[in-house]
Amino acid sequence: MKRMHKTLPYLGIVGLLPLPACVPGEKATGQDADSPNVIYVFPDQMRNSAMGFWSNEPYASHIHYKGDPVITPNLDKFAGEAVVFSSAYSNTPISSPHRGSLFTGMYPNKSGVPLNVNSSRPFNTLPIDAVTISDVFSQNGYNCAYIGKYHLDCPTPNDPDNPGQYVEGRNPVWDAYTPPEKRHGFDFWYSYGTFDVHKKPHYWDTKGKRHEIREWSPKHEVDIAVEYLINRNGQRDSSKPFFMMMSMNPPHHPYRSLNDCMEEDYNLYKDKTLGELLIRDNADTTIQKATSAPYYFAQVTGVDREFGRLLSVLDSLGLADNTIVVFASDHGDTMTSQGVSDAKNSPYTEATAIPFMVRYPGKLEPRVTDLLLSSPDIMPTLIGLSGLGDKIPSSVQGENYADYLLTGNPSSPLPQSALYIRNLDGDKDENGKVTNYFPEIRGVKTADYTLALSIDRKSKSLKQTYFYHDAKDPYQLNNLSLTDYPEEAAFLLEQLAQLLEKVEDPWYEEKILQEIVPYN
Ligand code: CA
Repeated sequence: MKRMHKTLPYLGIVGLLPLPACVPGEKATGQDADSPNVIYVFPDQMRNSAMGFWSNEPYASHIHYKGDPVITPNLDKFAGEAVVFSSAYSNTPISSPHRGSLFTGMYPNKSGVPLNVNSSRPFNTLPIDAVTISDVFSQNGYNCAYIGKYHLDCPTPNDPDNPGQYVEGRNPVWDAYTPPEKRHGFDFWYSYGTFDVHKKPHYWDTKGKRHEIREWSPKHEVDIAVEYLINRNGQRDSSKPFFMMMSMNPPHHPYRSLNDCMEEDYNLYKDKTLGELLIRDNADTTIQKATSAPYYFAQVTGVDREFGRLLSVLDSLGLADNTIVVFASDHGDTMTSQGVSDAKNSPYTEATAIPFMVRYPGKLEPRVTDLLLSSPDIMPTLIGLSGLGDKIPSSVQGENYADYLLTGNPSSPLPQSALYIRNLDGDKDENGKVTNYFPEIRGVKTADYTLALSIDRKSKSLKQTYFYHDAKDPYQLNNLSLTDYPEEAAFLLEQLAQLLEKVEDPWYEEKILQEIVPYN
């Protein structure tokens, strides 16, 4: 397939770089230690607390909240081999904006994806000329594979089987077929836009052929990934290193029946009471959604098993030592907390805190780090860890923490806060299509506090404050007044002002709430 990129000024000598030496008949890939393979696995809606090891030391003392009572033996073992982040945050905790940041290293106001992608928001899509993480790897000698949910490409009427039609009948349309010219360097493709039927998933492959599957999606996706690793059908050039992204939809709604998870996993939780599963001070076991808890945890345990299967194949192929493996998520899930029905898209820690673990054998010493990691930092950090730090596009707003992770010594001061962002639909045109976004909430998360401010759509005056002392109140039950901790509130507002200026956010550009936020 021919890639159709525009000129990429950031990358200078793209395409002229020496590739790893190709040894005919060589079985494994990426034998050049400077070119590790990279596998990035990200289930969609996985709370950071939904990993068993958080209940034990040395992990438990790094988080204020409790680990969930969930069974994840493979993630627990992986944690012992990886750098485990206690404080990785999805700045805009819904799918597409997080993914836009993950792909471009930019905040949603710059990435092109400030809102969740669907056909009612045609302006909101990963730009074809964005320089993404996969573009950088592809242009530097990597084979790139994408497997699973994509949700970055605004649906258009481009169904390969029904030209001129959308691939589904919903309105607005959520699911999408992504044609080759919009795949950003991924030369192997097995993906869909958004589709939440976990045991009847479908995918479009590299050539645009649709596959209807009758199997739990994470299991099928790992089968596809295993075939890619084995390279049974020549899916990749075995003389090149590979970059593989794998987006599993579960854990993700629906999580209410055996249609959503594997029975063997559900059986581990079905006899437990909701009180035994929802062990947090803020969990409401009386609302309808609480009954989803055993299914959610069953999805997590199933994801754990499939992730473990992927790792064991990587090991058996002799690829593990030269492969960076990341386990992460889009965002969390509040799971009946805070009385909110929306499981994500809120400033609460349970929505913003994500799993983030990186394993790089012989290079990264396994440990827990409290580094505040933001979504846009992931792209430059992974490129940096792969030895391509000088290829990070100048458009990137995130930080490259590769040196810090490799050496333990920061080359510049570490961040004291991570930004929180919630955008809503803005204006609509005469056809009802959204034409821009409204920046409703901005906030910061630090090691010990969360502070977020929402504004009224018309007056842009303060509507609500969210202020929590997370160290003392990890379940965010007590919404404080700014005057309860005036010094801390002042520091947080200063952090907010600096971050909004740094990322050139609309709040900074318009000086929104300047009577509260101390902009320069
Ligand atoms: Ca998501």
